[in-house]
Amino acid sequence: MIVGVLVELSNKNIDKVFDYRVPKELEEKIKIGIRVKVPFGHMELVGFILEIKNEEEDRELKEILSVLDEEVILNKELLALGKWMQKETLCTLISAYQAMLPKGYKASRKNHVNKKFNTYIQLHVVDPNIKLNASQQKIIEFVQNKKEVLKSELNKISKSSVDTLLKKRVLSSYEKEVYRIEDKEEDGSKKYELTNDQKKVVSSVLQEEGFSTYLLHGVTGSGKTEVYMELIAHYLKQGKQAIVLVPEISLTPQMVNRFKRRFGSHIAVLHSALSDGEKYDEYRKIVRGEVSIAIGARSAIFAPFLNLGIIIIDEEHTSSYKQENNPKYHAIDVANKRGEYHNCKVVLGSATPRLEDYARAKKNVYHLLELPKRINNKALPKVEIVDMNEAIRKSKKGFSLELIDAISSTLAKGEQVLLLLNRRGYSSFISCASCGYVEKCPNCDISLTYHKTSNTLRCHYCGYGTKVNKVCPHCKEEAMQQLGTGTEKIEEALHEFFEDAKVIRMDFDTTSKKGAHEKIINAFKNKEYNILLGTQMIAKGLDFEDVTLVGVINADTSLNIPDFRSSEMTFQLLDQVAGRSGRASKKGRVIIQTFNKDHYAIMYAKEHDYIGFFKTEMMIRRQLSYPPYYYITYVKIISKDYTLASQEATKIGNILKQQLKSSIVLGPSVCNVFRVNNTYRFGIIIKYKKEEQLYKTLEDLLEHYKSNAKVKIDIDFNPNSL
Ligand code: ADP
Ligand code: ZN
Repeated sequence: MIVGVLVELSNKNIDKVFDYRVPKELEEKIKIGIRVKVPFGHMELVGFILEIKNEEEDRELKEILSVLDEEVILNKELLALGKWMQKETLCTLISAYQAMLPKGYKASRKNHVNKKFNTYIQLHVVDPNIKLNASQQKIIEFVQNKKEVLKSELNKISKSSVDTLLKKRVLSSYEKEVYRIEDKEEDGSKKYELTNDQKKVVSSVLQEEGFSTYLLHGVTGSGKTEVYMELIAHYLKQGKQAIVLVPEISLTPQMVNRFKRRFGSHIAVLHSALSDGEKYDEYRKIVRGEVSIAIGARSAIFAPFLNLGIIIIDEEHTSSYKQENNPKYHAIDVANKRGEYHNCKVVLGSATPRLEDYARAKKNVYHLLELPKRINNKALPKVEIVDMNEAIRKSKKGFSLELIDAISSTLAKGEQVLLLLNRRGYSSFISCASCGYVEKCPNCDISLTYHKTSNTLRCHYCGYGTKVNKVCPHCKEEAMQQLGTGTEKIEEALHEFFEDAKVIRMDFDTTSKKGAHEKIINAFKNKEYNILLGTQMIAKGLDFEDVTLVGVINADTSLNIPDFRSSEMTFQLLDQVAGRSGRASKKGRVIIQTFNKDHYAIMYAKEHDYIGFFKTEMMIRRQLSYPPYYYITYVKIISKDYTLASQEATKIGNILKQQLKSSIVLGPSVCNVFRVNNTYRFGIIIKYKKEEQLYKTLEDLLEHYKSNAKVKIDIDFNPNSL
């Protein structure tokens, strides 16, 4: 027997199936999709069996060394899915498979993850001749009365007695595999009578058979999660399974418990904060068919269910649903592919859908479903805009008097405050401290990025450059300066203004430890703090009933990111964070400080008007040939040698311009993050509606550079940002 094995090394040069002979004694164990250990050059590597060839050949072949699995790791669907990802993203096949699996299941000679075993005790022989002392007697009674007794539990009575009884063979022990996270039920099943709007949404999904994708556009607090659960219940009853994706940040125990209360146990939770052992165990529950719902972040989209009824992607606009590293897949694309395979439903939900997805819904590629009102017709919070151009003269340390007043009166009522410091993006742009003006590229309508070394402003799309001017071309004040306000500074100011208030900060620095994020949320929920100050982390999915004021300290930072999605990101962020105010019975208020009060992203966020925003943004995208009117592919040329990177980038740019006749090719220009780890990056943007030559040309490009040690090529289809 000969098998084709794909080994663990992700390298374009060896990303293919290598043939091995199977020793007679291993033949029985061979299946497609399991892992084997094989000799490879001077190494021993782990790989997946992708092919079995039963014919005998006389070829000189090495033999596989051992078989690592009994159960199939890559089933038929996943095998095909990996090949599709390879084709779509031009990644290596092995990287596609590895991305689907938790560490304990990846092909890897290192990183072995062990199963966890517990030791249990049972009665062996009760010999009446053996005299027992009191504690031994107690232990025996304990064991007699229970079905299953952990040794560690008995040790608490008396470890020496347990050991003696084991030695005398009155007791015996056995090992049993256990999961690191117990799949236990939560008390109190809560199930609402659905509102008419919710019922309508549910029945539109159930009405049709087979694969379709739905976009559920529902304002914050409109009852989307209840709709998801109702749909899941329907498919579980048919013996099918469900995947629920939520952003990493909202994957809290509260969120998961809401599902457990509804469905009892049988839920696996997959997210990056779990230990490798925990992930391995959760994944195994799915493989063994012990759970029928998987809730998780991006990679949970690969949960190996065999009979999916529905895939739900909540907060579908979340940028982390696209993986930034190879394979650069988007979970929504994978969901649609799996939906097709399982002939099941895919539901994307958001209050602020990705522009591409809402456009697809408008064109009936997706079915549009709407929940336009909050539950119980509760009003969305009133949003007030503070024009910082006016307010800045009287403001203190970034706080307008309006915001300070609002915080004071909220605290006086004993209610809570959420403050967003919009730090998304880079501090590397220049803006006018007096009027908030930010210089943009005349060709691309993108903020120019400040380059300190050359003291110039540059466009990262087309390469346009200009000298830095101290005088603002807009208000003529000599006030152009580099921006950037840290969370610590704001925290200090809060302590100064509101001496008695308890402030807790949530940002990248305070949440790096495992569980820290959750601790902060719980402490704030339990009212141990009055003010929660944070970055975009606090914008999503959180439900605090006593928050009646949301303040946005600087709405503009994300507007000024040099990216065609900056308005969309700003609108999403403001609308999401505003939705955190007044969720329960008390009325909510939102205050947004901005230098750009007339910017449409801010004006529409004030009115909670997604559709208004969508229309305006679509017009701009059309004028400037951005998605969803054009597709974008971003090609990066990376090298430690600046001159080489620049030369190769120019060469590649010329080739692309020549070969991609139906595309607009921009650049090369330096990347946004130009120097990383002393490697230099140049980027080329390809815009197209339909480009027959695209894949062929890019594959040839990768092929050409695959053995080049000095220059690396990186390709990103539909990038999140440029
Ligand atoms: P979303 O996911 O759209 O933000 P949720 O599903 O979390 O909305 O619902 C918002 C709040 O309304 C939650 O507290 C939820 O328990 C409650 N809720 C949802 N549906 C109903 C209903 N049909 N009747 C009463 N309360 C509901
Ligand atoms: Zn430009």
